[in-house]
Amino acid sequence: MRAPRLPRPMSPRCPPPLHHRTAHRQRRGLAAGLPLALAAALAWAAPEGTELMRDVAGSALDDPRTAVAQVHQRLAGAGAGDAAFWLRLALVEVLSHTDNEAGSRRELEAAARALPSGPSAQRHRLWLAFYKRYVDSGAVEPEVFRRQQAEAREQARSAGDEALLCRLDLYEAVVQVELDAVDEAWAALEAVDRCAQRLGDAGLQSYALGTMGPLAWRVGSQQPPQTYYERALQALGSQPARHKRAWLLDDLGWALLNGGQPAAARGPFEQVLALSTAIGDVSFMMRGHEGLAEVLLHQHDAEGALRHARAALRLAAANAGLRFREITAQTQVVEALALLQRPELAAEIDRLRAVAARDPSPRTAALIARSAARGYRALGQHALAYTELERYLKLSSSDVRSARERDAQRLQARYEATRRDAENRELRHAAELTRLELDARAERQRALWALVAALGAVLAGGGWFFTRALRRRRRLADLAMRDELTGLPNRRAVLAFAREQFKLARRLDLHISVALIDLDHFKAVNDRHGHAAGDLVLEAFARAAGQVVRGQDRIGRWGGEEWLLVMPGTRSGELPAVFERLRQALAQQRVPGLPHPHGVTFSMGAAERHAGIDTLDALIAEADRHLYQAKAQGRDALSSASMEPSPAAAEPVTTTA
Ligand code: GH3
Ligand code: MG
Ligand code: MG
Repeated sequence: MRAPRLPRPMSPRCPPPLHHRTAHRQRRGLAAGLPLALAAALAWAAPEGTELMRDVAGSALDDPRTAVAQVHQRLAGAGAGDAAFWLRLALVEVLSHTDNEAGSRRELEAAARALPSGPSAQRHRLWLAFYKRYVDSGAVEPEVFRRQQAEAREQARSAGDEALLCRLDLYEAVVQVELDAVDEAWAALEAVDRCAQRLGDAGLQSYALGTMGPLAWRVGSQQPPQTYYERALQALGSQPARHKRAWLLDDLGWALLNGGQPAAARGPFEQVLALSTAIGDVSFMMRGHEGLAEVLLHQHDAEGALRHARAALRLAAANAGLRFREITAQTQVVEALALLQRPELAAEIDRLRAVAARDPSPRTAALIARSAARGYRALGQHALAYTELERYLKLSSSDVRSARERDAQRLQARYEATRRDAENRELRHAAELTRLELDARAERQRALWALVAALGAVLAGGGWFFTRALRRRRRLADLAMRDELTGLPNRRAVLAFAREQFKLARRLDLHISVALIDLDHFKAVNDRHGHAAGDLVLEAFARAAGQVVRGQDRIGRWGGEEWLLVMPGTRSGELPAVFERLRQALAQQRVPGLPHPHGVTFSMGAAERHAGIDTLDALIAEADRHLYQAKAQGRDALSSASMEPSPAAAEPVTTTA
């Protein structure tokens, strides 16, 4: 995975935008009369260090280079200590936004050295761990990422650290964008928009809104992309934020151009040029020129377009770091010269082709071919023009094709999400029933407590207590669906999941397999090593299962030392591999009280749904018959049947390991 494009500057300390001001005032007014414990909890949610980071981030919104220089000055004076730690973290963030990865790693190391010791540094450690992951995110596996996010969220939540939670959502969005999971990214960005508003963090909010722009069409938003850039700009309120504004105005300009409004795009690009010139940001000066050249090409002002495109090329020539950006301006030079029918056109086309060799992406290659085709046509070289045009059509259709493939994958993912929702609803429903069966009085008391807490939380302007109450309730509901010993879903939960999946598979004619797993000679394990050791074996099995069961599958404790594994989308041909993975994972577990290797094995009976089976119970019964067969054939084995073509002719297959 390529290193994700890290977010741009955020988190200024600023007068919040108008719609925040009222909430802000209320919060301050109330804080004065708060009981001590509550006030402490709130201080915990918005502590010193974060404020310091917001100061730095705020000035970086305006001019990142100056902001970094100022922090370095401050650090030279401040020496070590708490402030040094937070200032270093602020630098990690600012530098990663300006794509200075080496610099942000250096600051991360410096922050680690400045980490205060002792229990009071708990929060520091959470933040440091966050930025470590953030800077290293290029190499992370999606599965690992999800797990780490969940852990980090849990820790931030129990620390009541909303600023960190908000960043976790932002980080989620960045990685999901990178994975092209636009729906997930969108949801995360909406969450950032909300939490940044709550925190009065306009920089963070404008970052989220700005990132929503390019995703708007793809997630089917009712609003066009430009709306999001406009909202992002509004969120910046009255602070200068010249750098950030230039960035957003550039995005806004291109959104307007792509939406067929070149005249409206002119103003934003002119501002990009003016703002970036004021802070000496050559990269955005170049973008301003490119944007204006594009507007003028749309308006058939070839002379004006040529002037801006050449200005952009001059900036690139003078700044080694901008070389990779020459392509856009060079295509603009060719197109302007083609309109003007100038003799130097041929030489510029050659130059364009030379620049093109540096960027192999199909989209860039398509743009270049299109410009070259226009150039050759203007030169009267129709054969060459035709070749380039053909190349353009081929490249852009492959671009469209790959976009279509991506969208098909997204639909699949959406289907998955709907399925998960349905399943969660089911689980929630079952959990709700169990909960009602619990002591009703205790429940009433909890509700009262939650209400009091919620009121307190609302009054205090934060949802902290309310979240805690909710979390307690969720934990209770969760307990009703989990096996106490192993933490895996219990029989009720795994059965609910299996029913849902079976129904879905039957309705949509999808594959689904289930397997019953029974530990071999488990009584002997208990007899030889004791019941407690037997329990540890069960836990070891659950751990092994947790390691190998795939995202869409679920395993639960069926009873005693038996387990039900539900595998939506899985065909019987894949079962031997599932069996083998689980077998190896179990063998590798260490079990306290047992020698290593422990030698405990299991037998597995599995069945895939086929035409002759129309209830889940029948499918499980078939898996049970195979389990019996696996036991009969010597254990440590899988028995399953290949159901096709006809169930009657099906041959049992036994894999004995
Ligand atoms: P087989 O290979 O035929 O399955 O032999 P087995 O010994 O595993 O036979 P069986 O399935 O009949 O035995 C299950 C044993 O599992 C009996 C019971 O004492 C033990 N057991 C069931 N639940 C637990 C538990 O929660 N903890 C422990 N330690 N043992 C359990
Ligand atoms: Mg048994
Ligand atoms: Mg057994």
